[in-house]
Amino acid sequence: MRLGLVIDLDTCVGCQGCATACKQWNTSGTTGPLTDLRPYERDPEGVWFNRVRSFEVESSPETPGGRTVHFPMSCMHCEDAACVTVCPTGASYKREEDGIVLVDQDKCMGCNLCAWACPYGARELDSEAGVMKKCTLCVDRIYDEALPEAERQPACVLTCPTHSRVFGDFDDPDSEVSRLTRERNGTGLLPELGYKPVNQYLPPRQPAVVETKEAGNVSDGGSVKKWINKLIRK
Ligand code: SF4
Ligand code: SF4
Repeated sequence: MRLGLVIDLDTCVGCQGCATACKQWNTSGTTGPLTDLRPYERDPEGVWFNRVRSFEVESSPETPGGRTVHFPMSCMHCEDAACVTVCPTGASYKREEDGIVLVDQDKCMGCNLCAWACPYGARELDSEAGVMKKCTLCVDRIYDEALPEAERQPACVLTCPTHSRVFGDFDDPDSEVSRLTRERNGTGLLPELGYKPVNQYLPPRQPAVVETKEAGNVSDGGSVKKWINKLIRK
């Protein structure tokens, strides 16, 4: 199995729901509590496994008028994870059974090497706990048989109001994540680095071209006018 996420950049509206649900679930889960610094002040900080970055794309023939693209980022659960390779204590590891990359909190010494190695900024040093934390793909939810089957999904996926996030097994060619990646030309980030991120992003669709005609050229304008006049007279 190769579990991961598909994220649709066309429908993500940057509402931060995924980031908030992630924080809520994980702060009370296996890696919690997650540190919050100055939570009610102007510059709150702390540990977030999922962050949504927003970019303004300039106007171009492909994006007339420009557009805002919201880009949620968390751990990509890379197949050749740099964070695992550099970890001196073996705290960072990739599970063989499903490919999820985790940190053993008891082995981590908070040296920060994995955070420097990760090109996606997915690692979060919890300065209060002194250990590294990261997205677990909600490993403590997705296998919880006490939950109804439909809810055995990462918190970010369950909460996304626009269904921009899909969870599944990329090793199954018939899974929704595999199908979406195929049909929408999904892509992993920075493939040239060779870490083979599992998560895939679906690019924004091109705006539909709507054919328009000059008002004077509408061929049946006359008959529509007659029909409306007839209706009014009634
Ligand atoms: S995204 Fe970063 S933290 Fe996640 S597996 Fe890849 S290198 Fe490791
Ligand atoms: S911070 Fe922890 S998980 Fe990261 S490299 Fe150091 S020991 Fe390994």
